[in-house]
This record gives sequence, structure tokens and C-alpha cells, in this order.
Amino acid sequence: MVHSLRPEHRRRRPAIRALVAPLIAPLIAPLIALLAVLALAGGARGSDAPPSVEEVLARTSSDPDSASFAAPLRMQVPDRSQIPLIRVAVATGAEEIRISSPAGAWIGRHRSGYRPSRIEAGEEWTLRPSGNGIELRDGAGRRRAIVSDTLFAFSADPESAPLAVRGAPYHGQFLLWRSGERLVAVNVIDLESYLRGVVPLEMGFLSPEAYEAVKAQAVAARSYTLATMGRWRHLGYDLVSTVEDQVYGGVAKEKPACNQAIHDTRGVVLAYEGSAIRAFYSSTCGGTTAGPDEVWGHKPVDYLRTVRDKTRRVDDSFCEGSPRFRWSEEWTLSAFESMLDKNLKRGESGWSRARYGALRGIAIRDRGESKRVAALRLEFEKGKVELGGDEVRWAIRRPNGEGLRSALLTKVEFSKASKGRSKIRIAGRGYGHGVGLCQFGAYGMSKAGYEYTQILRFYYRGARMGHIY
Ligand SMILES: [Zn+2]
Repeated sequence: MVHSLRPEHRRRRPAIRALVAPLIAPLIAPLIALLAVLALAGGARGSDAPPSVEEVLARTSSDPDSASFAAPLRMQVPDRSQIPLIRVAVATGAEEIRISSPAGAWIGRHRSGYRPSRIEAGEEWTLRPSGNGIELRDGAGRRRAIVSDTLFAFSADPESAPLAVRGAPYHGQFLLWRSGERLVAVNVIDLESYLRGVVPLEMGFLSPEAYEAVKAQAVAARSYTLATMGRWRHLGYDLVSTVEDQVYGGVAKEKPACNQAIHDTRGVVLAYEGSAIRAFYSSTCGGTTAGPDEVWGHKPVDYLRTVRDKTRRVDDSFCEGSPRFRWSEEWTLSAFESMLDKNLKRGESGWSRARYGALRGIAIRDRGESKRVAALRLEFEKGKVELGGDEVRWAIRRPNGEGLRSALLTKVEFSKASKGRSKIRIAGRGYGHGVGLCQFGAYGMSKAGYEYTQILRFYYRGARMGHIY
């Protein structure tokens, strides 16, 4: 029911800082020792009673309009009467692209003056780089043209028979061009239709009691899109369809409940100081959300502050229902070391096994405001490496090869034993970067009876909310 939640938006490669300090030769080397056990102290699970959501919102809302939508948002949008069009790259390095539609389609040169060619109903045309241009072959394999212009393509009946590009149907139209020896396919689509292909992939749970959470997710995704679109403008599109921006799957991924939630929040956006906010979200905060400063070293942002995902209405946290609320991993020492061999080399440290020697200890040296690890020290025979912020999630990989689920580590343990039986254990809470809205927390709030406006104001404190169209 919940497995499709993505861990985070942007994967960052670890930039590992090394502290190349000569290590004093170990004085004692007994083979039985518990080297480091650090428990998460206070903070996320303190004993002071948290305020209610209503108290939180009363305290953080200086803006009487933010919940009622009494006034339209003053925001810079191109034209209030129109839904913004966005250009989403669904392929950027394709060797060939096939297009078709059950109702037939048209494909033509973007340069004016040429009549587009008809693709018959059900027929599939293939585009490939050839010479200096793009070769078009029809359903029978006949070469129909080689063109060097940008191409456009659209379905003869976009509503009921959307254009299929590489097998996946999409609303809107397409621009296609050549980039080097590869092809680029860009879906030109209005923001609301785009969201229909995004929200279901971001939100795995669709039970009726989750509906307010789905609405909150729709508003967050709409805001995030407006805030980030254009970052690839120099390449000819606004967004990519992968985890780099937001995963977008087109018509085939749509779900009625999500379409309804998008419709019910049509045009609603979160804004701060006149611009749509970068409404980050992730699966499970584990009890406390994080700021972008703590996780990525970005500038702190007023509307993305650390939020305790808990009120008097719930025993633990709003996201305690997440299957990844608590987790633990275990490695044998040799598996842990070979995992480090692979990952530390990718950093900037010039790390090598020969230079640093065997692992002798692992310890949390510092925590950030949300209690996520700010510095995790790996001590080797001949030096130390310190991992900071979100990079622990990418530098330390689980036995199955995936990154650690979160940087909210509750326990780090190195049990030394004889004959290759030494083990590393890491326990933690949550899944994803933890910045912004907690998706399982939003689900918990929805179940507890909160509306999507309250959910959004709980996680994005201080942001305004309103319609932009
Ligand atoms: Zn949470």
C-alpha cells in the first residue's frame, strides 16, 4: 500500500571530508569491545507535552488569509487567467523514439510553412538520429524524411487517445529535437495535467482517510514545480521527469483519487515573499523534520524550519504508521569495509584502504537541530573520515546496496569479536531527507481529521496559501 513513496527529490553524491590525522598507535587492542554506542538524546522524543496543531497554527499564522483564501495571492505568474504551460523532458538521451496514438497523430517541423504529416491510427513512427538530422520512418519502415529542425507532434484526439511516446501516453503535445547523437523528447503540458502524472507517484497510499494528505501533496507538488521550473532552461526545457525534479509518469500513472485532489485544489499554491515556495517533501521524517541548512548546507529558509511531527493527539509522531519509522541495519565488519572501499573513493578525500588501513571505530560526533547526524566519524588505523549532513545516506550503503534510509541515526554500534565476527549495527528513524512535508505525517494528520490547509501550514510554517488561478 505504501511502497511507492520516493525517498527524496534530489540525490546528492557524497562529498566526503577527510580528516587525515595520523592516528596514535592503539595502546590496547583487546578484541572484545563495544567501541561506540550513542543514543539519540532528548530532542525528538522529549518528555515535554507538544502543543496541539491548533496552537501551533495560531502561533505561526500571522496571516489571516492563509487559510481562508479570502485574498488572491500576490505572485508573479505570467498571466492569472491561464494555467502555466511547462516543458517536461521525458527523454534526454534516447537513441530512438517511437510515437503513436490510437486516434492517429500529426508530426511536423516546428519551422512554419510546412504541413505536418499524418500518422495513421495505431501506426507507430520511429525517430532516429541520422546524418545531421533526425530520420523519420513510418509504421511500414519506410523512410519519410530526414529533418534538422525541431519537430512537434500531437494526437488527433488528445483527450481520449493521448500521444504515446516510447510506449507511454501523455497529455499535451511534444517537441522533439536532436542533441549530439541522441534525441530529446519534451512534453509541453499545462501545470494541472502535469500534476496528474506526478502526485500518484509521490503518494502511495490512497485510502479515503488519506484524502486530505493527497490534497496537501498536490499543493506541495504544484508549488515545488512553480518554484523550480526553468532550472533546465538552458537545455530547452523546464523540468526533467525523474527524481532530479519530480517523477512524472504521464497518463498511465494517473489515479482517480489524485486527479480529484488536484481538481479540488486547482490553482492553490504556497508562497513566501511573492514567490512559490520550494515545497520539499519526503516519505517519513522519523519524528522531526529538518531544515535545508542542516541536510544540504543550503541557506536556512523561514518556511522550512525543523518541525516536531507530533502533537497531543498522537502517541508518538504523525508518521509513526510508516513502515520505515524505525529501522536498523547490520553488516559484518568485512562487508562494511568493502562497502566503504567502494563509496569513500568517490568522495574528494583521496581515500584508499592502503592509506587509511582497517576500520577501528565509528561514532556520531555531532548532531544538527533535528538531531540528524551532522558528523559521523569513521576511525581507521591511519586516519579518520568525517561524513556530514545528508552524505551519510550516500556514503554508507545498506547491505542491499541502497543508501541509508535517513540521517536520523539513533544508534551506531561497533561490536568487536574474533575471527571475522565483528559487526556494525546502525539504527535510525525515518526515510528520506526529512525536509518539508512528511508524507506519512500528512497521512497521519489526515487520519486524525485535519484538513489539507492545516497539514500544509503545520509543515511549511509561515508560508502563505492561495489561488493563483
Ligand atoms: Zn514525520
